[in-house]
This record gives sequence, structure tokens and C-alpha cells, in this order.
Amino acid sequence: MLTVNAIAAPSATDPLVRTTIDRRDLGPRDVLIEISYAGICHSDIHTVRGDWGPVPYPLTVGHEIVGHIAEVGSEATKHAVGDRVGVGCMVNSCRECDNCRAGQEQYCLNGNVGTYASTDRDGTVTQGGYSTHIVVDEDFVLRVPTSIPHEAAAPLLCAGITTYSPLAHWNAGPGKKVAVVGMGGLGHMAVKIAVAMGAEVTVLSQTLSKKDDGLAFGAKDYHATSDPATFEALKNTFDLIINTVSAPIDINAYLSLLRLDGTLVSVGAPPEPLPVQVFALFGQRRSFAGSSIGGIPETQQMLDFCASHGIAPEIELIKADEVNDAYERVLSSDVRYRFVIDINSLR
Ligand code: NAP
Ligand code: ZN
Ligand code: ZN
Repeated sequence: MLTVNAIAAPSATDPLVRTTIDRRDLGPRDVLIEISYAGICHSDIHTVRGDWGPVPYPLTVGHEIVGHIAEVGSEATKHAVGDRVGVGCMVNSCRECDNCRAGQEQYCLNGNVGTYASTDRDGTVTQGGYSTHIVVDEDFVLRVPTSIPHEAAAPLLCAGITTYSPLAHWNAGPGKKVAVVGMGGLGHMAVKIAVAMGAEVTVLSQTLSKKDDGLAFGAKDYHATSDPATFEALKNTFDLIINTVSAPIDINAYLSLLRLDGTLVSVGAPPEPLPVQVFALFGQRRSFAGSSIGGIPETQQMLDFCASHGIAPEIELIKADEVNDAYERVLSSDVRYRFVIDINSLR
């Protein structure tokens, strides 16, 4: 067992604190990763604050992880010592169900093992990436192309794949009008990726305060959702809307912006329900869908796509002791556009 430095939440209400956690001994197919950077996803905050249900405290969160391979198990063949790698939201799955066999481990019918707050195969609770090292089965470790700046790569492992997957599934591309609701961590990646796929992108943000950034990321248009005129002007417009908002919104107002056969995909995960009026769907044969991260093969595809298109997250690098302040800034939509913890500050 390896005892490593980490940051953990002691409870739903206490600030996160420095601590140590244990990593298991390397199994034959495991690799040990020395973590360089860990992104702060809003899901980390939902989890530690208990928004989604009971949590096994103390808990170390973090599922946007990049670093280097420090050691490989006796039968591990996919990664070599020194390789730059990443870990996202899953560290294992059953590998036998139809969805796992199809490379859709995020939809494992027997439940995948989350990077944190899940029960691992040895019965312990998984602990995430706000720590100096992690031990992971090599099949759930991604290759991170070296052309992506190291400190900016971490958010791709959740924010990147969570937006790439629905954009790819619903065929964002030339001739398609895509709207992105909320321009935070996920939202700004959705804009960049949809633009790189060739779609015409509109940002729907609470205010116009980030308009210059949105246009610089490649969006053609940018509207404030606080202005009722936005919903009149954009009625029946979009083929695809990606909702990344972490809080409940009036989903019917957004459904009315879809054109015939359009789809609104919610990746945002507020704990409250989003009540849908069926009449908001009837009008233009619209669909309302959800999407969860992405499978391991698709995550690799996304990393390679971002490398080949020169796409990287916009980040604010922070030290371990700044995590609690960063959480408050995320909660007040004051993030430009992902906080990333420099794990060297934890050593
Ligand atoms: P984030 O950085 O906080 O971004 C959320 C954005 O939503 C904010 O920047 C803000 O954008 C907008 N927003 C926040 N509160 C709002 C409100 N009350 N009304 C309207 N808009 C509001 O969060 P994130 O890390 O991107 O995560 C977003 C959500 O996705 C979270 O719920 C997270 O748990 C979920 N998530 C889901 C998956 C999945 O697999 N489906 C994966 C990762 C994360 P503007 O300032 O532009 O309005
Ligand atoms: Zn996440
Ligand atoms: Zn499975």
C-alpha cells in the first residue's frame, strides 16, 4: 500500500483539507500514475456537498486527472513508465455486458466503478485525483497527446468527453445549428468542440459578460438568457442544444428553440427535476435527451481529436490551498473556464 498526499472533504459542510490517503498495491494489470494536474469539475462540488445523495466521508474527489506513468504491473502492456496519461470519471466496469463490449463502459449494465465515491473491486471506496498518485487498471487509462499543453489537458477527461460524446452522437457538423447553454467548464469545451466539428454555434449564457470569449472560441452568436427577447428571436432555430447548466432551468423555454426534429441534450446534472411540458415537444417533433460522459474508446478519440484540431481548455491554475475559494467561484459562475490544481503544490 502507498500512502499519498491528498485533499479531502471531511463532510458536506466543512472546507476541504489536506490529508493522506492509501493507494492499493499494484495488481498485475494496474499502473501507478504520478499526478501532475487535476481539474475541478462541478460534479466534484455536487458530490462533496451531498447534492446527489449520501457520500462516504472523508472523500477525495477529482476525475480530471493527468500525469505520468511511474510504475506498471507485471502483466500491464498498454502504457510504459514515463508516458503521459489521463484518467477520467471511471476506473473500471464489468467488461462483460453489452454496453461494456460496445465500448460504452459509462453505461455498464452492472454499474461502472467511478473514480471516486464508488466501491472498488477490493471493497474499498475509490478516491479521486486531488492527490499525488493513483493506481488504476491500465484499460481505464488514456493516452494524452503531448501536443496538448500538460496543465490544460486534465479538463478534457471529463468536460471534454462529456460534451464531445453528445455532439458526435447527434451529428454536430457542417450545416447544423448548435446552441450551448451555460458557458462554464463543460460549456466552453462544447463551444470549441462543436466549432471544430464544423457546426454553427450559438452560446446561451445568463448575461453577455463572456460574449467576447465565446466569439473568440468560435461561436457565431451569443445571447443572454436573462433577456426574454432571446427566446422570441431564436424560436425554432437549433438542430441540437447542449444544456450544461448545473442548476434547474425552465427547460420548456429552451425546447421551444429547437427546429423540427431537434434534440435538447442535458448534460448538466442539477439534483432537482426538470419538468417537461409534452406540448413543448409536440410542436416540432422535438426530443429531450441526456448523456453521461463517454466510453474509453471515445475518450481516446476525443483526446486525439482535440490534439489534431489544436483545442485545449482555458484554465486557471491554482494551488492546493486555493481549492475552497475555487469552489465558491465555480458556484457563483465566476470560472474562466476551468480551475486546475497544480498537484506539485501537494507534494
Ligand atoms: P460550471 O463550470 O459551474 O458551469 C455551469 C455553467 O452553468 C455556469 O458557468 C453558468 O454559465 C451556468 N449556470 C450556473 N448556474 C446557473 C443558473 N442558476 N441559471 C442558469 N445558468 C446557470 O459547471 P461544469 O463543471 O461545466 O458542470 C456543469 C454541470 O454538468 C454540473 O451539473 C455537472 O455536475 C454536470 N456534469 C455532467 C456530466 C455528465 O456526464 N452528464 C459530466 C460532468 C459534469 P453562464 O455564466 O454562461 O450562464
Ligand atoms: Zn466531471
Ligand atoms: Zn458492463
